[in-house]
Amino acid sequence: MSIPRFILTPAALQNHQVRLTGPDVQHARVLRLQTGDPVRVCDGAGHEWQGRISLFTPQVVDVSDLEPCAANVESALQVTLYQGMARGGKLELTVQKTTEMGLYRFVPMVTARSQVRITEAGSNKQQRWQEIARQAARQSGRTLVPEVAPPMDFSRAVQAAAQFNLAVMPFEHADGTQDWKRCLAGHTALRTFGLYIGPEGGFTDAEVEQARRAGIVPVSLGPRILRSETAGLAAVAMALYQWGDLGGTA
Ligand code: SAM
Repeated sequence: MSIPRFILTPAALQNHQVRLTGPDVQHARVLRLQTGDPVRVCDGAGHEWQGRISLFTPQVVDVSDLEPCAANVESALQVTLYQGMARGGKLELTVQKTTEMGLYRFVPMVTARSQVRITEAGSNKQQRWQEIARQAARQSGRTLVPEVAPPMDFSRAVQAAAQFNLAVMPFEHADGTQDWKRCLAGHTALRTFGLYIGPEGGFTDAEVEQARRAGIVPVSLGPRILRSETAGLAAVAMALYQWGDLGGTA
């Protein structure tokens, strides 16, 4: 059995002893861990340590004798997904699956057709999505937990495009000359990539034009219309396969 891992806040890793609490104690119990067992802890920001359980009570689990571990499980490509929100949209699945694939940052995005206002887009949902990202990072062996940002409106999301080596907007009405393979083949060593996915209702023409003016490239994902969540998952996988380490490094 691989050594169990726990992802903690940097604050919890202040000294050479770590105290697990709450759901992490529950997880340790489910794994039937005992005092003396080895475990790995990481700070969610790319650093990992291995130690041994020194105390196990119903409320807390202490881990001591921490030694740093080399862990190279993060993709060199930093993908930021701006995912269009829709009323009742299921972003939990997108957060979980893109985290497993290696996403760097997740930004819920409110667009003209989101049917959700920024105010009601909800910080409580953000906390839930952030915990889903933390658990998915732990399960997939990642040392970095993608940040789930507060919901952002389309204009601010588009303004952020300048920070990326390349930013694309999958657009189902893009013509054949703008398909992903043809349009993006020329881009090789990317370090940062921004991806803008519309909600179930899609982007308006004005939004596509605003994005294009900001240097975001509209691309087709192919001849079939994908649901918003499907498009997000597919495009993240395609980017990490093409410029990252999903599928291995060439
Ligand atoms: N206009 C779509 C329709 O006719 O049903 C609704 C938008 S689609 C469900 C949600 C988002 O997924 C789009 O805004 C786009 O970002 C992306 N998308 C879906 N299929 C696509 C495709 N074939 N090519 C590019 N983007 C696509």
